[in-house]
Amino acid sequence: ETTHFGYQTVSTREKENLVKGVFSSVASNYDLMNDIMSMGVHRLWKTHFINKLDAGMRPGTDRPLAFLDVAGGTGDIAFGLLDHAKHKFQDIQSTMTVADINPDMLMEGERRCVVQTSYGRSPRIQFLEQNGETLDKIEDNSKDVYTIAFGIRNFTDIQAGLNTAYRVLKPGGVFACLEFSHVDNSLVDTVYQTYSFSLLPLMGQLVANDRDSYQYLVESIRKFPKQEEFAGMVRKAGFYVPGKGYEDLTFGVAAIHIGVKL
Ligand code: SAM
Repeated sequence: ETTHFGYQTVSTREKENLVKGVFSSVASNYDLMNDIMSMGVHRLWKTHFINKLDAGMRPGTDRPLAFLDVAGGTGDIAFGLLDHAKHKFQDIQSTMTVADINPDMLMEGERRCVVQTSYGRSPRIQFLEQNGETLDKIEDNSKDVYTIAFGIRNFTDIQAGLNTAYRVLKPGGVFACLEFSHVDNSLVDTVYQTYSFSLLPLMGQLVANDRDSYQYLVESIRKFPKQEEFAGMVRKAGFYVPGKGYEDLTFGVAAIHIGVKL
């Protein structure tokens, strides 16, 4: 079976290895890359994503949530969700599993967990090396909230990833995805395309000395399904998709998709 990687057609296995390579080569440079890619706006998108989910054990109840952050990389979303639950709902019991295919990203996440958060070495947080397409160490119907931020477009088989999200969520569980998406407004799109196709790889080269990784990222964003199509895939996995199923952020440069397992 073949798939695309940048401008090349490669085997599925090769793509997996290439994706691993991209993230290994950027793990330490990772925040810088995100900042360059989104001109710093990814931080606002992530905060909005976490606030929108508004997840946490409500005071007066006694059912801690089981969170799963897939492609969790360096832990931004995972720590943000736990912080939100704590500050808004005084929830200090819900648990978090961070799953990522790349051990270097996970190691960076664990390091930050110890150095930057109060969850370091807590049994509430667990880091797991897992392919998000299968999540074979995660049981069926075991999670309340499944999040994935800027990860699913790297999957070789996105539908398999969505089907797996459905499998691991409990009935009533919520799937939430934050991902680069497609700009609808043609004027804004012209500016955005110019930026991403010409300037981004150049900036990647100048700032991180890594043109290829940035080139790959631009290509992977372009190939990712449009908002409506992706909402259709979430539905196809079995989820109930409320409303139109997504929220555009910054003209659709990124989008949040939500699904509920009924
Ligand atoms: N969620 C983090 C964030 O928003 O900062 C990290 C996003 S980073 C751009 C993409 C992550 O997806 C990388 O850590 C990479 O290792 C991971 N990844 C790529 N393919 C994956 C797969 N098939 N299964 C699990 N993780 C994957």
